[in-house]
Amino acid sequence: MIRVTVWSEYRHEKRNPKIAEIYPDGMHGAIARSLSDAGFAVRTATLDEPEHGRTEDVLATTDVMTWWGHMAHGDVSDAIVERVHKRVLEGMGLIVLHSGHFSKIFKRLMGTSCDLRWREAGERERLWVVSPGHPIVEGIGEAFEIPHEEMYGEFFDIPEPDELVLLSWFQGGDVFRSGCCYHRGRGKIFYFRPGHETYPTYYQPEVQRVIANAVKWAAPVARPATSFGHRPEPLEDLHV
Ligand code: ZN
Repeated sequence: MIRVTVWSEYRHEKRNPKIAEIYPDGMHGAIARSLSDAGFAVRTATLDEPEHGRTEDVLATTDVMTWWGHMAHGDVSDAIVERVHKRVLEGMGLIVLHSGHFSKIFKRLMGTSCDLRWREAGERERLWVVSPGHPIVEGIGEAFEIPHEEMYGEFFDIPEPDELVLLSWFQGGDVFRSGCCYHRGRGKIFYFRPGHETYPTYYQPEVQRVIANAVKWAAPVARPATSFGHRPEPLEDLHV
């Protein structure tokens, strides 16, 4: 069974009663419940726990981590970011959600500013599947709509994704690469755009389905050990 750690900074929900009303158990609570219903072994962790809930032991027993952060990216300790980065290179999957585009870990893994354009007007978002047949959009169809969301618009300063799975259109006319796959070391990373804290986005079945599919895609697979360095003994006789 795939072991998932759903991580969230969990600050908006504590400070804004309207957000707490939408997510009484935190955004991580809603995401964790949907992943648990999808059959994964799920636990949650949040910023204000010791070591942000990301101890060596938690990371060693996590196959895929989801990451939602926004107002407190700067409060995430560099040592913990380093620890997560190391685990991604070792093979842990990472699903970066919405405003996680500006997290230390995503910027570190991408190597670019990860900046974008945004507008908070509650407009309609339509997410188009641009890689039909990709496992992350299994069961999604051609497109789906989120009735009200924050707009994120291009240009999104990321490296060219290894695979682009979803492309968003917004009512106001902007477009955005909203489902992006990357490989770093042995790890797989999926950036998924929706999930502004003032909308019930993480209860929407299509959104939950994409996240669950992404967990399956990003989970580590058995692979042979790799070796590096000096190879003085050739496999074949060089003198024949
Ligand atoms: Zn937002």
